[in-house]
Amino acid sequence: MSQLRGPASVWLLTAAMAATAGLVWRNGLTLGPAPSGSWLAWWGIALAFYVAEAWPIHVHFRKQAHTLSMTEIGLIFGLFFATPGALFAGQIAGAGLALAFNRRQRPVKFAFNIAEQSLCTGVALLIFRALAAGAGGGRLWVAALVAVAIAHLVGVVLVSAVIAVAERTPLVLMQLPKTVGLSLVGSLAVSCLALVGVALVESRPVGLLLLAFPVGMCLLAFRGYMQQRMQRDYVEFLYESMRAAQGAPEMGLAIGQLLLAAQRLLRADYAEIILLTRTADEPVLRSTSGSAGQTLMRPDELSEETNDAILLVSAAERAVLLPRKRERHILDTFLSARGLEDGVLGVLRGDEGVFGLLLVGGRIGDVTEFDENDLVLFETFNSHAAVLLQNGRLEQSLAQVTELQEQLRHQAYHDALTGLPNRALFTARVTEAVESAAIDNASRAVLFLDLDDFKFVNDSWGHAAGDEMLVQVAERLRSATRPGDTPARLAGDEFGVLLANTSAEDAEHVAQRIRDALAEPFWLSGRETSLYASIGVALTGPHAATAEELLLNADIAMYVAKSDERSHYAIYEPRFHQRLRERQELAVELRRALERDEIVVHYQPVISLETGEIEAFEALARWEHPERGLLVPDEFLGIAEESGLIVELGASIMAQALSQVRNWQETLPGAEAIGLWVNLAPGEFTNDSLVEDLSFALSRARFDPRKLTVEITEHSVMRDEHNGLKAMHRLRDLGVALSIDDFGTGYSSLSRLAQFPIQLLKIPKTFVDPLAGDEADTSFIDAILRLAEALGIVTVAEGIEHAAQARRLREVGCELAQGYVFSEPLTADETQKLLAAQSTFPVPAHESSALRLAASA
Ligand code: C2E
Ligand code: CA
Ligand code: CA
Repeated sequence: MSQLRGPASVWLLTAAMAATAGLVWRNGLTLGPAPSGSWLAWWGIALAFYVAEAWPIHVHFRKQAHTLSMTEIGLIFGLFFATPGALFAGQIAGAGLALAFNRRQRPVKFAFNIAEQSLCTGVALLIFRALAAGAGGGRLWVAALVAVAIAHLVGVVLVSAVIAVAERTPLVLMQLPKTVGLSLVGSLAVSCLALVGVALVESRPVGLLLLAFPVGMCLLAFRGYMQQRMQRDYVEFLYESMRAAQGAPEMGLAIGQLLLAAQRLLRADYAEIILLTRTADEPVLRSTSGSAGQTLMRPDELSEETNDAILLVSAAERAVLLPRKRERHILDTFLSARGLEDGVLGVLRGDEGVFGLLLVGGRIGDVTEFDENDLVLFETFNSHAAVLLQNGRLEQSLAQVTELQEQLRHQAYHDALTGLPNRALFTARVTEAVESAAIDNASRAVLFLDLDDFKFVNDSWGHAAGDEMLVQVAERLRSATRPGDTPARLAGDEFGVLLANTSAEDAEHVAQRIRDALAEPFWLSGRETSLYASIGVALTGPHAATAEELLLNADIAMYVAKSDERSHYAIYEPRFHQRLRERQELAVELRRALERDEIVVHYQPVISLETGEIEAFEALARWEHPERGLLVPDEFLGIAEESGLIVELGASIMAQALSQVRNWQETLPGAEAIGLWVNLAPGEFTNDSLVEDLSFALSRARFDPRKLTVEITEHSVMRDEHNGLKAMHRLRDLGVALSIDDFGTGYSSLSRLAQFPIQLLKIPKTFVDPLAGDEADTSFIDAILRLAEALGIVTVAEGIEHAAQARRLREVGCELAQGYVFSEPLTADETQKLLAAQSTFPVPAHESSALRLAASA
């Protein structure tokens, strides 16, 4: 038998059974009437068999097939009350009708079942008649039970045999004892009931009605029990297979497990999972499992058929059941492309919609079909598999990410533009450094750099230039540091450097080296520009126990460095905390001060060295602080620049000075031609609306622009020479005069002066101071003056504190002068008094020896 396979073998087995049944019935039909009379007609028996076969209690689970039909009732009644012919005809007619029309069995199965039942019924009949000969009452009952039991055994063996043949699983036969035991008990129970019925018919037929009720109840309860059992077994199975799949280390293996489980669950030859990929142009991943083995996660084109199938199945409410016996279906080609006659299909649905297809097909053997039960099983399995696979898919994408991990890690820890370590890596390194500093007691240092004018480069030259600049800064940082150090880009225009092993002096040295490296002019797409960076330095030690503290200290030092225009760096000291807090408070106060008009203007006269007359007044800002008294610009200008208040502050100074001086020009005799000089901070000079605002302020104060001089520093202009020059020309167009303040302390060379549309040049106190000595070297001032003369630029010397300085300056040809030797900056009231007195200041005559420095009326 085991050599015979497939449907052909089932047919053969059926034929053999039919032949045996024929032999049995040739004997059976010759037997006489039944022991209890033969009143029961063939159709009565047919009815009993029909009902039993039309609504059987199937216990059809995994590879075990238990079918508890109540055929024993018809059989036992037939044995007791019908002729062999009626039993034979009734059984074939009733069961045949039910199997063909109610259960729609395929021919092979129908034939098998009819043959098997006829054989069993025939066997039962022969045994019963043999045992019942001459017996009555209880012995008849025993005879009936024995006959039914033997017939049942024959039936179970035959059914198991056919399943083993059809499904190619000899296992069924090995499980036979267990199967038999279970079903025999069921069969005998039904037979006993039937015998009770027989006894009732013989004594009080009405009693049958009483019996009907408990039997019905039992049947219902049994059905319920079996269903529950099935469900429990199924859940167990599902759990096992999902666990197996989940435990599989790889996505592919998990799918392999799922496919096997699906095959076992639906007793199918074939199972397939198609996983869609995220994008349409990527291939789908196809996994199949069948008699030829498994192929897992193979990339495949998404065929039109498959695509249609997925669309169709996802549109359907449930999974799609395609049994062998069916109408033509659109998915027929999909199935036949896989050599399948039948199948169940469902889509795998995840959070983001359909991501795949599950197909189970090729029901094993011809005896059973995919039916409604299978559909329910499939759907539950399908949804569990979907959940599992969705998680798996995520894991898989993570796996793909691992390949890129190295690359990503670099990206995660480096700045894309400059290639320097980023803040994350820098912080990690600083953390390590602080930890090892605690162990070896050597110092580590952190430098924080902030580019002072970077926003400006970005705004006026565009981001490409800004990027270029950052790349160059990174380059210079690299070459200004040693191999063991870590330069990093922390944010937009913020850089950091970690010094591996250092001392305070060494760190300061590096800070200076970086500052000098950055002081070199930058060339950005053919244009030269300059840049300042403020550098904060902090060292490990008692004030920096953690990386956070160290970084914070460096940050604080950097803020302090911002207000130190000479060195551009600061080394952290604990008092900086206090200073920083004060500065923050001061910014808040300054805003309030502007609202309350606490910022006022003092005026310092500009004297003609020729005549001693007052040519103009320089407006100098003062803060009348309610608690701290009069504050000079050094104490608040830095904060104003930092906090963006500089424009507002400058506008306030300008408006006050314009209206004040305008007032003096109009009201004081001899003051008509008095000039006003106003300082412009870099933040004001580069402000886009500078010219607009100034022209508005001028007309509002009805101030003659030719009487106004604005003082700018070289630094303001050289930040962006191109735009700086443009702004200078536009100011000139307003009629305003331009003066370069503190000339010679910035970066512009003497030769640059020729390009600037300026009228005045201020020689700073630093160059004036040496003139006080006896053997003063005037060569530098000489050079400036000669150049200025050649360019038609007026020169002003400031910070003159001694008469000797004034004399020397006059000798070398300097025209104008400012300084305490003449007058300190004065309040508006004092200035008005000075003007009203029409004072002239005594100026040194060329050969004068004694000078009185007090102003004479
Ligand atoms: P600056 O433009 O070079 O102004 C000259 C500074 O030298 C003033 O200091 C003035 O009071 C001081 N000074 C004048 N003569 C002498 C002298 O004989 N000896 C000494 N030791 N100092 C003298 P001040 O008023 O403290 O201003 C400092 C700086 O603040 C100014 O330098 C200027 O750059 C800035 N500044 C002052 N007022 C304003 C303002 O309204 N706007 C802007 N943007 N900056 C201002
Ligand atoms: Ca000035
Ligand atoms: Ca100056």
